[in-house]
Amino acid sequence: MNKLSIISIGLLFLISCSPQSEKLTLAETPKNPLAIVIHGGAGGVEKRFFTTEQELAYKNTLQEALDAGYVILEKGGTSLEAVQAAIIIMENSPLFNAGKGAVFNSEGKQEMDASIMDGSNLKAGAVAGVNHIKNPILAARMVMDSTSHVLLSGKGAEIIAKKFNLEMVESDYFFTPKRYNQLMKLQGKEEMKLDHNSSEHQKINYFIDDHKYGTVGAVALDRFGNIAAGTSTGGMTNKKYGRIGDTPIIGAGNYANNETCGVSCTGTGEYYIRTVAAHEISNLMKYKNFSAQKALKEVIFNQISKLGGEGGAIVLDKNGNVAWDFNSSGMFRGYKKSTGENVVEMYEMSKK
Ligand code: ASP
Repeated sequence: MNKLSIISIGLLFLISCSPQSEKLTLAETPKNPLAIVIHGGAGGVEKRFFTTEQELAYKNTLQEALDAGYVILEKGGTSLEAVQAAIIIMENSPLFNAGKGAVFNSEGKQEMDASIMDGSNLKAGAVAGVNHIKNPILAARMVMDSTSHVLLSGKGAEIIAKKFNLEMVESDYFFTPKRYNQLMKLQGKEEMKLDHNSSEHQKINYFIDDHKYGTVGAVALDRFGNIAAGTSTGGMTNKKYGRIGDTPIIGAGNYANNETCGVSCTGTGEYYIRTVAAHEISNLMKYKNFSAQKALKEVIFNQISKLGGEGGAIVLDKNGNVAWDFNSSGMFRGYKKSTGENVVEMYEMSKK
């Protein structure tokens, strides 16, 4: 054996013994761009409904979520970890309809749904109708990693979450007076409301107090070229007890596939389920060679709008291109990339 092969074998041994992030220092420059894109719900998000302080609060929390995810990518972490970190910030914030601050169902209870998907192997995990798990996105990850199932609901999901030492809370942890007031206004009307339902926005601050969307989602691309997507929600105010939306349905509200893209949706979930929206976007890219933006537009405007649904989605393709769009007046959203771009927006689409 010559000197060179001894050195190569030694190097290979070193690489295989190192944790993933240390491998990077040997492999160095990532061949893939790093990117994370997030949303905090679509709906009637219009400037006239927000005070400067409210706008700042939303933008700061979105930025915090982006930073939490991006720093993980930068340090060589995985897209799954980045997606989780960004979503946890938004679940813990009462501003969004996920985790603390989730909307109430018709029984005055909060039932949360979440899902996560790994685009490198199409593994996925989801929970539906939970209300004692502090961070439903972590429960979705636990279902993916530690069970042979994809979707667990209610008590069963909570029992397993507890077994895996996820942080459990009393259900009143999720309570916010604002969400309860939204329910009181809708009770008896047999209506379900998206979190920022634009048709209702007749007067200043009406929606921010009463009809705020706020489902949260994140899609990330790491230096291994792996895409992950996650989505978390309280669903829709005054939804029927037991109603499950698109968020925990893989392919409807959430999807990731390294071959194409990652997608996280927000809007009237029933329409996203019927159009299998997230998977449809991926398939348009895969089989019709559509760009992320074109596929997204097709699904939101030619499919969901036509059926009467409202909302939007974020997409991140395998090359790090970000796409977002919505048929509502706004959507809380942002992205951060290794190109140095950092964008946080909430109102109508900027004209390019
Ligand atoms: N898609 C969610 C659901 O239908 C709601 C939302 O995005 O605001 O449960």
